[in-house]
Amino acid sequence: MSTITTKPLVGVSQCLLGDAVRYDGQSKANSIVIKKLGGIFELVPICPEIEAGLNVPRPPVQLTGSIDNPRLTGRDNACLDITDIMQAYCKNKPTELKHLSGFIFKSRSPSCGLNSTPVYIDGRCVTENSRGIFAKEFCATYPSLPVIEESELEIKDQLTAFIMAVNLKN
Ligand code: SF4
Repeated sequence: MSTITTKPLVGVSQCLLGDAVRYDGQSKANSIVIKKLGGIFELVPICPEIEAGLNVPRPPVQLTGSIDNPRLTGRDNACLDITDIMQAYCKNKPTELKHLSGFIFKSRSPSCGLNSTPVYIDGRCVTENSRGIFAKEFCATYPSLPVIEESELEIKDQLTAFIMAVNLKN
């Protein structure tokens, strides 16, 4: 017998659910996401790097060269450049996510960070408040959709505001 859910559908960076999709083969299980938000919302796991075709494990990447228009290059090998692969995925994927009422992003990730991703120019960190390449495209596509990132989940007022905003959208 199939079950029809009436919970709001909320996207989530997949590693926060405890899935081992990170570059190093690890997860970043987050108990607030799994235990609290998982009970309120129907969570839809998305790992942009895996969906773009990258493997586990894979070389770590970082945002480089420009704050406004960075490239995604290897942390340990600057010759590695996956910008085109990720941009192709990130330009198309958000339009497939019209059914979501919100998104929970992984902090500091060059793909998923919301306001916490470092950018490096000539090997020097020039900001720690930039946006990952997938989060940027997603938020540009849905500018009024409620979003939150991992580090904000610990701040009670922000978590409460996110939950209320998602419920209002639904
Ligand atoms: S931060 Fe995003 S791209 Fe990186 S492992 Fe988690 S879900 Fe995948």
